[in-house]
Amino acid sequence: MKCEICKNKIEEIFLSKIKGTIIKKPGSSKPHYLCPDCQKKHPKKEELLEKI
Ligand SMILES: [Zn+2]
Repeated sequence: MKCEICKNKIEEIFLSKIKGTIIKKPGSSKPHYLCPDCQKKHPKKEELLEKI
């Protein structure tokens, strides 16, 4: 799977766990995948939500 901000590939570890994070917009059940780099660049969830 790919990061939804930088489009880089996100590594999967095991049992569908990923390096990075999965966030959901309020009121939506659609998951958004983000790599650890983008997570670091935007430590606040609100900032991440604006980018996706
Ligand atoms: Zn990214």
